Amino acid sequence: MASRKVLIVGGVAGGATCAARLRRLDEKAEIVVFEKGPYPSYANCGLPYYTGDIITDEAKLLVATPDLFRARFNIDVRPEHEVVRINRKEKRIEVRDLRRETTCWETYDALVLSPGAAPVRPPLPGIDLGGIFTLRTIPDSRDIRAWIQDTNAHQAAIIGGGFIGLEMAESLAHRGLQVAIVEMCDQVMPPLDREMAEYVYDRLLRNQVSVRLGDPVARFDGANGRVNSVVALSGARIPADIVILSVGVKPETKLAREAELEIGARGGIRVNESMRTSDPAIWAVGDAVEVRDVVTGEFSLVPLAGPANRQGRIAADAICGRPARFRGVQATAVCGVFGLTAAITGVSEKRLSQANDSDYEVVYLHPLDHAGYYPGAKTMHLKLIFRRSDGLVLGAQGVGEAGVERRIDVISMAIQKGSTVFDLEEAELCYAPQFGAAKDAVNLAGMVAANVVRGDVSLAKWGNLPHPDAFLLDVREPGEFKGGSITGATNIPLSQLRGRLGDLPMNRPIWVNCRVGQRSYIAVRILQQNGFDVHNLSGGYSTWEVWYPKGLPSVKEGATQEGVTGVQPTEDRAA
Ligand SMILES: Cc1cc2nc3c(=O)[nH]c(=O)nc-3n(C[C@H](O)[C@H](O)[C@H](O)COP(=O)(O)OP(=O)(O)OC[C@H]3O[C@@H](n4cnc5c(N)ncnc54)[C@H](O)[C@@H]3O)c2cc1C
Repeated sequence: MASRKVLIVGGVAGGATCAARLRRLDEKAEIVVFEKGPYPSYANCGLPYYTGDIITDEAKLLVATPDLFRARFNIDVRPEHEVVRINRKEKRIEVRDLRRETTCWETYDALVLSPGAAPVRPPLPGIDLGGIFTLRTIPDSRDIRAWIQDTNAHQAAIIGGGFIGLEMAESLAHRGLQVAIVEMCDQVMPPLDREMAEYVYDRLLRNQVSVRLGDPVARFDGANGRVNSVVALSGARIPADIVILSVGVKPETKLAREAELEIGARGGIRVNESMRTSDPAIWAVGDAVEVRDVVTGEFSLVPLAGPANRQGRIAADAICGRPARFRGVQATAVCGVFGLTAAITGVSEKRLSQANDSDYEVVYLHPLDHAGYYPGAKTMHLKLIFRRSDGLVLGAQGVGEAGVERRIDVISMAIQKGSTVFDLEEAELCYAPQFGAAKDAVNLAGMVAANVVRGDVSLAKWGNLPHPDAFLLDVREPGEFKGGSITGATNIPLSQLRGRLGDLPMNRPIWVNCRVGQRSYIAVRILQQNGFDVHNLSGGYSTWEVWYPKGLPSVKEGATQEGVTGVQPTEDRAA
């Protein structure tokens, strides 16, 4: 006799994890998983690489089959079964067998919803032309592969430069297609702050991917029912014989809405900390739910595999009476683009600034991933965001060719544990020359930030350049300065600084830079102790290069720099 009957809607990340955990906790439960697609438990995160022929064997994407679920877990998994209605009062669901075209009702003691999120298909003119795809399932990736092969497609347009868009760009380039990305924001990878996304943008261009930013798609044009170009709002036409839409996902909440479960302000199913919905017999997990953001405390939608898996486990624990609690999300994510890794955790600076939060600071670093004397060291670019008043770590972003995800993972854990920059200073991390440095990038980030919180150094804000009052001081060597400098900066090398204090103004703020921020920090300490009003430009000239990729906007002859804003017009960046 079964202890309880648990029905699960959706058999991939959250649903399959929940089912397997349930069985481990309750050998007697009857567990049935309904999956409307043909495959349960497949690796959707691997799909971009399958379409791009980087993964060539489709079978490798099938993590577990219904037979395996039956044999190993005694779980009844039913593919091609769609749940179409929930009757909460009678605790039963209506299920349609898509193969046989029959319907039946199944009762439950507990119901788990893990229906995921559907790719957005914007209702633009031409959207129904052949050759315009979204990517969510194995059949989607088969369709994309078949279209490329059958039509001999050689020009692809990717709409949306987020994680999936970038993965698709790389994958289709790997297949030999010419790829263009069209993105409505003024940057790729919108979760990153714009200057950090600049590294990714640059890497795309270097790999012959053309990128059009700040120019939303207006329509798709075609002939004989097939797409042949994408037309942007500016009128620009991007030729394309295949289009991939990767403009975001929308939580699948139809079942929940029709059953009148509570839906949150962001459009996801509202759940409590044990993933229970507004109905005590129904749980919900994964892309379909809203969960609290660890840093901001607000509800948010975070369509990522890690949270979906953890939530599936927690729902199973809760159903079995264990005191499980989901801690919230930080949106920790990583993406690989042509050998570059971009990773993020916690809150971004733009989100804080949109929320008018002024109690935060950011520092930039450009450390090597491992000791410089050991062959193969690569520079990485890190941005750490922390609360100015007490040093609480709020977020971090990293881009580089090696070691980035490790640093962001460490900082992610720090955020989850409510750590401060002082904790990062003290973090004890693995070190041998080929893996890191005795002062690891995470320690360095903590030290640089802790200097700010302790008041040992004050920071100037890159976004405030050009500044009408600031005296810009570059303390690099003359050879470095000649190779490129911040517009309007004066060069006094650090080694000469103590002897040339008289060349510096006492009545103006001095903003100091070097190459990455280390020599400028020493200069700041010298000048501060000599009574100057001095501020560090964090990350130095290396940060300038991404904040103002083409320098400051040109100033018309005769005009002062006052009132000139520092951001490049987006049209300039369309490639
Ligand atoms: C191409 C791609 C790449 C990705 N890459 C990454 C990555 O690298 N890293 C990362 O963290 N995340 C990635 N994700 C996101 C990640 O896959 C999702 O966050 C995760 O799968 C969500 O789990 P879920 O259980 O909520 O939904 P899903 O895994 O999408 O599963 C939901 C399932 O429910 C089924 N379903 C829906 N409604 C019904 C119904 N009424 N009846 C029966 N079945 C139903 C659907 O068919 C679907 O199979 C990627 C997603 C995609 C599409």
